[in-house]
Amino acid sequence: MNCILRGVRVIDPAAGMDAVGQDVWLSEGRIIAVYPSIDEGTVTVVDLTPAPGHPPCILAPGFIDLHAHLREPGGERAETVLSGARAAAAGGFTQVLAMANTEPPIDTPIRVAEARSRAAGAVVEVMTAAAVSRDLAGHVPVDVAGCAAAGAVAFTDDGRNAAPPELLSDVLRRAHDAGRPVLVHPEDERTIAERNRSGGPWALSLDRPAEAEATAVRSALEALAQAGRGHLHLQHLSTAASVDLVRRAREDGVAVTAEVTPHHLAMWSPAAQATDPPALLKVNPPLRTENDRIALIQALRDGVIDAVATDHAPHHVDHKCGDLASAAPGMTGLETALATCITLGGMSGDWIPVLLERLTLGPHRVLAPGADLRQPRLRVGESATCVLFDPAAPWTVGEGHTHSRSRNNPLWGSRLNGRVLLTIADGVVAHHDPALLPWPSTLMEAASG
Ligand SMILES: [Zn+2]
Repeated sequence: MNCILRGVRVIDPAAGMDAVGQDVWLSEGRIIAVYPSIDEGTVTVVDLTPAPGHPPCILAPGFIDLHAHLREPGGERAETVLSGARAAAAGGFTQVLAMANTEPPIDTPIRVAEARSRAAGAVVEVMTAAAVSRDLAGHVPVDVAGCAAAGAVAFTDDGRNAAPPELLSDVLRRAHDAGRPVLVHPEDERTIAERNRSGGPWALSLDRPAEAEATAVRSALEALAQAGRGHLHLQHLSTAASVDLVRRAREDGVAVTAEVTPHHLAMWSPAAQATDPPALLKVNPPLRTENDRIALIQALRDGVIDAVATDHAPHHVDHKCGDLASAAPGMTGLETALATCITLGGMSGDWIPVLLERLTLGPHRVLAPGADLRQPRLRVGESATCVLFDPAAPWTVGEGHTHSRSRNNPLWGSRLNGRVLLTIADGVVAHHDPALLPWPSTLMEAASG
């Protein structure tokens, strides 16, 4: 790979850089120079100078996803670590945190080590989260120090909220001592069980009131206070009430961070009116009201919410085509996250630099204090980990090649704006859209060689 990307807008939140009309010289996986005009005779120029009236392509550090279900082991019909990593690269992500609720769950140091070796061949960096409790059942804490030593960068029972406050406090303390955050899926299981008297598995319960989230957020904050130390991260906030709780806690100096999903920012509106099957819209926590959505967008803009996280939840078609009550919750998200946030999630235009912060530095802040993770940045001389995207390019979800093994996305067939052209992870091309980027084949050969 030796080329000059001409006429791009370079946004690097870590350096506070936002510059249009830049030439970016990439050679042998490194960023050689970023300058308004680079002429190097023999070097191939990929001219991305925008047409009049069209916004420029944007080069940014690779995105970090704090929340992906890659289904391996146990759910390989829906996704594998390798297919999930390809979907991530197609969405501009160069680091993805795989959740622990696989079958079996990642709840021992040995299983963490196994997950680390599965991730070795992925096109982007797949990080491993370990469970908080054995079998995610909320009874016995995992070996926190052992799992961290084996390579877990975070702890989470995501998919469940079974851990009582005492157990959560204990794990918050131990995770803090290992330099790791604890990620909590805030939906109170008792509230949901009471509302769904008919019984059935907790995750499939349809009636999931906003109060269940507020109760769980309060309880997790109390567990953190009890712990006396620790870093609590709240996953997929979905209500205005939880945003208020987090805002107040942060004003009080509490060590809590939070994420929001593209689908809760977007509500899939206007697609939400009709999906077939309707179970495509089933997700935990559920899509909420327009007021909630506006509060989430505001919180993401002003920084009360630190990160956009996909909650990429692939399911085999068999688990989505039945009736609503028996369908599995969740939707895919890695390949559509950027375009969903831009097109439907309130983060277009002047908000794009903020969105990029919440996809790079924001999630890095959640994970980095203890784990030795590289900072997302574009630095001359370093190996490139970056994404090039056209913020205005229209495309139809599902058209052309998709990379996830699953298709359970309610936006399937919808038109969105914002397309990833190129993703480079640690100097190697992880994704390239040949239809959109006039990238000479000689460069691709050089890149993969
Ligand atoms: Zn969850």
